[in-house]
Amino acid sequence: MAQPVALVTGSSRGIGLEVARQLAARDHLVIVTSREMRNAERVARELGGLAHVLDTSSETSIDAIGTFIEKEVGRLDVLVNNAAILLDEGKAISAVTSREFEETLRANVIGPFLVTKRLAPLLRKSAHARVVNVSSGAGQLSSMSSYAPAYSISKAALNAITIQFASDLRKARVNCVDPGWVRTDMGGPAAPRSVEEGADSIVWLATLPDNGPTGGFFHDRKQIPW
Ligand code: NDP
Repeated sequence: MAQPVALVTGSSRGIGLEVARQLAARDHLVIVTSREMRNAERVARELGGLAHVLDTSSETSIDAIGTFIEKEVGRLDVLVNNAAILLDEGKAISAVTSREFEETLRANVIGPFLVTKRLAPLLRKSAHARVVNVSSGAGQLSSMSSYAPAYSISKAALNAITIQFASDLRKARVNCVDPGWVRTDMGGPAAPRSVEEGADSIVWLATLPDNGPTGGFFHDRKQIPW
């Protein structure tokens, strides 16, 4: 089998960087992305992968990476929608501004929707396509708290997008995952989990066997309620 190709959005740092490292160690050709080309290039050099700019808030940027993968790489087997922003931690929903709400939904919801849609033709051609949407326990409707309202709502919507693409990309395995509270720029230094622990279930879902689950929400390799 040819070397599998994986795109990990937001792989310049944090959980995405660790996922990119682990997939490269499993012999994937990894396409590393950042909003800053030099940050993507630094990581791609380390991993022997490819670098590309991606801003998930911009449809033009999403289209550009789609064209790059089609023309320069020619295949895609694994898509990890990892990039996200957290703007409204500590706010009640009535204090969230329209700018915060819109920017959050654009980057965390419309972004992964458009990335997956743009790359769907390549994923359909792969015999072993895997899509992993990096969600959060904050997006679990069954236990949703008042924590970061726009962010939490964006992750609940990402979970719904996961169900929709799982039914559309029938041959692929399409799942979402809560990595737990992880020590990154977003998670902060007090988080109990390392990036290795946060990346574990993501990499597991990205490398599922063909008879693995699809359309599910996972934490520590176990299915969890929506
Ligand atoms: P970080 O803030 O540490 O890293 C975010 C990554 O996303 C960076 O590589 C950044 O790249 C990229 N990024 C941010 N905005 C955009 C954008 N608009 N377009 C493209 N890339 C973007 O986050 P984490 O590693 O902590 O989080 C990774 C994922 O895990 C996210 O989906 C997050 O919601 C989820 N998660 C994290 C938790 C945690 O405790 N850390 C808990 C639960 C879920 P650059 O700045 O270089 O462009």
